[in-house]
Amino acid sequence: MKIYINQIPDTGLELSERWEPSGLDLGREDIKFTQPIEIFAQITKGIGIVSVNLKVKTEMSLNCSRCLEEIVISKPLEIKLNLPVKNEEVIDITDNLREELILNFPLKPLCRADCRGLCMRCGENLNKGKCRCQKVKAKK
Ligand SMILES: [Zn+2]
Ligand SMILES: [Zn+2]
Repeated sequence: MKIYINQIPDTGLELSERWEPSGLDLGREDIKFTQPIEIFAQITKGIGIVSVNLKVKTEMSLNCSRCLEEIVISKPLEIKLNLPVKNEEVIDITDNLREELILNFPLKPLCRADCRGLCMRCGENLNKGKCRCQKVKAKK
């Protein structure tokens, strides 16, 4: 997203953009955006600074960190950028935005708060019921 600084009126500027996920390299193979990323920016200009308030709508698909089931997370992000400017005519906030998106990736996504995960022995998904090893144990 490019901002032309001399086109920002004193009252501020609103811009919106839509990013196709395919054109976005976020360096994470395990996360896929399932919808285009919608970006809405409110831009104001100060002395030597440009402030950008961003609302970003994303929907991503990734795997639960415990049971590995696919989950879809749609989480709107609010990002505030304060960019120092000197004599630039145009600033490109694409890299800033990409960084913020990466920072906001969930570290340990869970399909639900009490996900039981996989059995350490047989690898079965314990959310779907007891696995074979537990049943064997119960019979003894
Ligand atoms: Zn899970
Ligand atoms: Zn098991």
